[in-house]
Amino acid sequence: MKSFIPPKRTLMGPGPSDVSDRILEAMARPTLGHLDPDFQRMMEEVKEGLKALFRTENKLTFPVSAPGSAGMETCFANLVDEGDTVVVIRNGVFGERMRENVVRAGGNAVMVDAEWGTTPKLEDVEAALEANPDAKILAFVHAETSTGVWADAEALAELARKYDCLTIMDAVTSLGGIPVEIDGWQIDAVYSGSQKCLSCTPGLSPVSFSDKAIKKVKARKTPVRSWFLDLSLVMSYWDGEGGRSYHHTAPVNALYGLHEALVMVSEEGLENVWVRHAVMHEALAAGLEKLGLKFLVDEEIRLPQLNAMVVPDGVDEASVRAYLLEKHNLEIGAGLGPMAGKVWRIGLMGSSASEENVELCITAIADALKAHQYPVDGIAALEAARVVLDE
Ligand code: PLP
Repeated sequence: MKSFIPPKRTLMGPGPSDVSDRILEAMARPTLGHLDPDFQRMMEEVKEGLKALFRTENKLTFPVSAPGSAGMETCFANLVDEGDTVVVIRNGVFGERMRENVVRAGGNAVMVDAEWGTTPKLEDVEAALEANPDAKILAFVHAETSTGVWADAEALAELARKYDCLTIMDAVTSLGGIPVEIDGWQIDAVYSGSQKCLSCTPGLSPVSFSDKAIKKVKARKTPVRSWFLDLSLVMSYWDGEGGRSYHHTAPVNALYGLHEALVMVSEEGLENVWVRHAVMHEALAAGLEKLGLKFLVDEEIRLPQLNAMVVPDGVDEASVRAYLLEKHNLEIGAGLGPMAGKVWRIGLMGSSASEENVELCITAIADALKAHQYPVDGIAALEAARVVLDE
């Protein structure tokens, strides 16, 4: 065997996003023991940084040592008790995964469906809550990565409270890209991922739980079915009060990376980070629309960090992506499920939300479309993006 040297790509798919040299350098620092006092000090800073990012005072805020899916499972495995009814919004891949999690945790999932690329009406969600007075939880995806739809988390959480339900929110693609206000919106359980708008390497899942959520976990009739994700056990390591003890060997260097990402967000300022994502999205949208491409999602519910573009008739979706990778070292994403072959998913997440990437993406897509016998004016598209960037 020989060492693996990856090619230098630009990552503008649905995640992972570009990881900055600064984060990679942080991860290359010497590994400490996971109970080393200096490492424990850093863990406390990670918890504080995540609280600032989630905009919460929740004491139980920490990164699960595994990807976003494990954060999702941590929320469902701990909060859903045997026989609990959970209302789940499904308008893409990740709502369906929530349903699976509810069922595997022993609960009953009541689904509120909406067509992919749209979001259900609040009346439909309310009707499901009204029809299921025993429902204990409302679960929804804040930023649906499979379509680029932005859910109105504040309104959904308010509705959940009206029906005495807790909320579980997927913030894998939203955290660090658009406003997430855990305390302001009174969300009870939230999970995210390190590899999207935080621009870290994949493999960590920040989570946070309100006091109401902890109360529900403590009142469980049955033990949590997962040993690794059982909050009462994992907190012996992350809680810190009364001394930490071994639960699992933490991914020490990955946590250095997350720590550095949090430092970078605090230096730039969280609001500025949101603005950067919004501006890069506007510039990209101006350029792509000038190329004649159309968005899957209506403007009012469109995420800045995940742009689902409809593949023009007669253009081979996969061939364009392969061309971008080969000729421009640029990765964009394919459609999932019913969207396979129909959309491209272009990410503007974290470090990838930059002027340089917007310009590269427009130039490369213009070139790829021309190579696929779809004539476009790449110069005019770049100019349209520049107008936004220069404003
Ligand atoms: N939820 C959403 C909205 C996602 O986009 C993803 C990953 O793309 C996940 C959950 C799962 O995260 P991971 O792939 O890190 O396990």
